Amino acid sequence: MRFAVYNNRLVPEPLLPSAEKTEPISKLPTIPLQPLNPDFPFNPDLQTILTGKQLLLDELPFELEEIQTHYENGFLAYRKSIELKGKQAICIRCGTKDPAWFASYPCARCKESCTYCRQCLMMGRVSSCTPLISWTGPEPEAQPAERILNWAGSLSKGQKEASSRVVEAVETDSELLVWAVCGAGKTEVLFAGIAAALAEGKRVCVATPRTDVVLELTPRFKAVFPHTTIASLYGGSEDRQKHAQLTIATTHQLLRFYQAFDFMVVDEVDAFPYSVDAALQYAVKQARKQGSALVFLTATPNQKWQQECLSKKRAFVTIPARYHRFPLPVPVFVWCGNWQKHLQKNKLPSNVLNWIKHRINSGNQALVFVPQIEQMEKLLPLLQTLHPDILSVHAEDPYRKEKVQKMRNKEVPILLTTTILERGVTFPNIDVAVLGAEDRIFAESALVQIAGRAGRSKNFPSGDVTFFHYGKTEAMVRARNQILKMNQVGKQRGLLD
Ligand SMILES: [Zn+2]
Ligand SMILES: [Zn+2]
Repeated sequence: MRFAVYNNRLVPEPLLPSAEKTEPISKLPTIPLQPLNPDFPFNPDLQTILTGKQLLLDELPFELEEIQTHYENGFLAYRKSIELKGKQAICIRCGTKDPAWFASYPCARCKESCTYCRQCLMMGRVSSCTPLISWTGPEPEAQPAERILNWAGSLSKGQKEASSRVVEAVETDSELLVWAVCGAGKTEVLFAGIAAALAEGKRVCVATPRTDVVLELTPRFKAVFPHTTIASLYGGSEDRQKHAQLTIATTHQLLRFYQAFDFMVVDEVDAFPYSVDAALQYAVKQARKQGSALVFLTATPNQKWQQECLSKKRAFVTIPARYHRFPLPVPVFVWCGNWQKHLQKNKLPSNVLNWIKHRINSGNQALVFVPQIEQMEKLLPLLQTLHPDILSVHAEDPYRKEKVQKMRNKEVPILLTTTILERGVTFPNIDVAVLGAEDRIFAESALVQIAGRAGRSKNFPSGDVTFFHYGKTEAMVRARNQILKMNQVGKQRGLLD
């Protein structure tokens, strides 16, 4: 669409009363904002859909005239979605500046060559002629329920400390990192802080890089906050238009939000793709209100964050022990020679083979992590000669869910996997091995997460964790040190028996 600034207002071409010079929105020097007219009878449906969002015209099921009258009465704002600075383009929605992400096409809407962002294309195309629309009127009034939190569980000592720090972060609108070991029970640590925010009518978001986690958290939060409106957002979810006090979303979905949340939680900050994707980190920033509370949750902060914690540059709290008060299983390093060469000859190093045979004979289930799919596919038939029910799984595997379920049902003695199962899955009683722990894919955080799969249940708090390698790496050493350190701190703080 093309626009003109007419009578100090932005007017879309179809609504101009006379012929004026029009431009794609990105080419206009400034877009005037309108003062709020408190007597304007605004449309509450538009308010519901648009509050805290930044949407495209295509995403708003309202007539252009109605949108425009809301703008003219100060209830919404048009912003450029692509900022053009000379030859450089910046995507205002996802923050991308890298020229490689921009492309041009002959656009039917503005009848010019239009620049668009490919980085956030999956959320609908933003181009130099598409405005981002956000609400500037009053927010829908929140009516906090009398009893917000419906949870009868209890917190471990470590969880309690972290929980009160989260409440404090909410009350003082500050930033906090919760560094909780795998199996510490980090979700429960959020309940009191979220309840405190909701009680004040604040809007809360729990964002996570992975759809699986959204799907797992949604029913838990619905049970714990039964009187709160909750939106669950991921690619293809049905809650897109819902205005909710509590939003559980993938970090991708935050690209549609703008200054929405008073309290933002980012779960698994270290997980792919958030950890490597600047656009998602930008999305978190955009989706929060300025000066709002921000809590990060992770079991494995990266080196930089660990340093910042040590040097007291970052506010953090650790939960160094699991809720069941047993220490974390410590990985054992076992040199296995050139295992890839063995695989090529359809063989396995004898110590690896013995480890696997031992699990099969004892009936103890195990996860075996392998760096690459091709290596795993080579290994699978070898192991199936030992036991026909051994399976393998990877990210693109169409039967991924079924296979994980079979593992849960104990129908699979050994499950071979890529890093896809490094986090998020809990089997109560398993041993864990990594074949080729020296591979670059096994970063410190991946190895800590993998080791964290063992000993999760209080009935089976230990578990064997073996890293088979062809040359120890720094990541391996750092991962083991991190686990040892957490066990030591847990002991000092009286969190272990
Ligand atoms: Zn973009
Ligand atoms: Zn265009």
